Amino acid sequence: MRRQMAHKARPSILGSGHGRRRPVGREARHRLGDWRDGLGGPAGALLGIGVIALVGIVLLGAGVGAAGGRPGAAFGPPARDGPATSETGSPDAAVLDAAGTPLPTAPPCAQGDVLTPNRGPDDWARTILDTTLMLPENAEPPDLVRVTEAGIAGSGKVRGLVIGDLRALASSAAADGVRVSVDSAYRSYAQQVASFESYAKAYGDDEALKTVARPGHSEHQLGTTVDFAGDLPWLAANAPAFGFVMSYPADASPGRTCYRPEAWHFRYVGPRTALRVAASGLSLREWLWRNQP
Ligand SMILES: [Zn+2]
Repeated sequence: MRRQMAHKARPSILGSGHGRRRPVGREARHRLGDWRDGLGGPAGALLGIGVIALVGIVLLGAGVGAAGGRPGAAFGPPARDGPATSETGSPDAAVLDAAGTPLPTAPPCAQGDVLTPNRGPDDWARTILDTTLMLPENAEPPDLVRVTEAGIAGSGKVRGLVIGDLRALASSAAADGVRVSVDSAYRSYAQQVASFESYAKAYGDDEALKTVARPGHSEHQLGTTVDFAGDLPWLAANAPAFGFVMSYPADASPGRTCYRPEAWHFRYVGPRTALRVAASGLSLREWLWRNQP
């Protein structure tokens, strides 16, 4: 708990973490190349063109400005138990996929308690969590292991499926001469209850709502999310190649992510998805809304 609160209260990290971008490290470049190589041949070229076209359409749509959104094309719009915040910068103009079909867009951020639709253990890369959508109290990953199994300093647990890429990330950081460690990882529902109540008591409900996820709403409950410490600019540039996405980047937070910027908070979605999210210009929340099966 103390670690959580001290962690949230260090504004210097935000200041140092967001302004600049470091070049992508050697290992991350290599991985990027591997991923592209994997799409070789005519099929790969076609897919590449399709992805580029789709990204272009998405960016074009985003630039058009706000209009009526289409929440809930993939699943019903979340019930809104509270007023929408005024900080909704979501680009809600109709966005079309390559076939001209409108893609669903993330609804404005609102306080609510709606069970997120894709919430099984196998849904880890597509579960949407925000101030409205949540996991049930009993949702607990089946395969938690200590992060130190990845050879990285720090403490906490993640799902076993994260370990391989977390180990590669740690090795790459070491090879680039930068320090990276894990400050916090899995948090149970009960831990989130304690965390939110403690923060609200210290700083008030309004501050707590903007800063700490209410119980069930934290990506840390997935067991795939890590708060890193160390060289955050290096992570911003390199983490996607190892499958980790910064969930609350400064340029999208809180308006499009529902939470304040957190330069240290990364969620594992696998390298392929993480690189697609990074290339899209969308926050992870927006990307997941548009890419629900
Ligand atoms: Zn976090």
